[in-house]
Amino acid sequence: MSAQVVAEPRPRHLLDFQGWSEGRLNAILDNADTMLQVLDRPVKKVPALQGLTVCTAFFENSTRTRISFELAARRMSADVVSFAAGSSSLSKGESLRDTIETLTSYKVDAYVVRHPASGAAHQVARFSGKPTINAGDGRRAHPTQALLDAYTIRQEYGDLKGRRVAIIGDVRHSRVARSNAELLTRLGAEVVLCGPATLLPRELASLGATLTTDAQQAVKGAHAVMALRLQTERMDAGYLGSLQEYIRDYQVNERLMERAETGAIVLHPGPMNRDLEISADTADGPRSRVLKQVENGQAVRMSVLYHLLVGRG
Ligand code: ASP
Repeated sequence: MSAQVVAEPRPRHLLDFQGWSEGRLNAILDNADTMLQVLDRPVKKVPALQGLTVCTAFFENSTRTRISFELAARRMSADVVSFAAGSSSLSKGESLRDTIETLTSYKVDAYVVRHPASGAAHQVARFSGKPTINAGDGRRAHPTQALLDAYTIRQEYGDLKGRRVAIIGDVRHSRVARSNAELLTRLGAEVVLCGPATLLPRELASLGATLTTDAQQAVKGAHAVMALRLQTERMDAGYLGSLQEYIRDYQVNERLMERAETGAIVLHPGPMNRDLEISADTADGPRSRVLKQVENGQAVRMSVLYHLLVGRG
């Protein structure tokens, strides 16, 4: 397996996109093509990470991200150790620092971290001194989700340049929206963030995206429309009027999609609340790329692990 080489210092971590050039981000996406080919072989395994141990440390629930990272590491022959907060000594009061230092003593070579606190992945990188991938920290960043979303749109259209992507829903609590707004605009797409005013912080315009509370306006001319989940677990105040109003104004459904470009695709990072932020028929219909996103996630995460870990002395 050969990976594309980019002649510039290699970032040690993927905590967000700071320090990652467009060339390197595109190389991650290019190399995901090779990884998808590996996943199509009868024997879905390459020796790239043999001898290395990857720890997935999840302090918050996950289905897709955790499983795809674990499979990605195993497909490349790494040993994988999983830390699940619920069954650990965290419940006995052990700190994040003591937890990570303990795991590092077992000779873990890299961390994949999810945590409800924004900035926790940076702390893990500091406490462990090992390459660390942020698998979602609070509402701040979820870089591999954005990479797999970018990959899925690119797979459809060949290039992100000049494409319009509308991201609709609970933008306020969404690390997916933040990471996508940054990545997609850097790769040349036009990004529109849309939701009720209470869920659409104005400061997100600094990421290069346009903001609107009008979903019909947001999807006009869009090549891809991403629905975001209402993150009620992060809502500590009354952000919504009624769910009926939310569904009427912001649900991604066939009626709304009529305003988008012909052939526009629909994305959702999961988990989906069917018939709330996305209608069930749209989620299952021909525009939906939700399961493609899941499939691509494994390949993109293999590519990220390869970039961070292979050939690092
Ligand atoms: N799975 C995504 C995340 O972890 C989106 C969501 O939870 O709604 O951020």
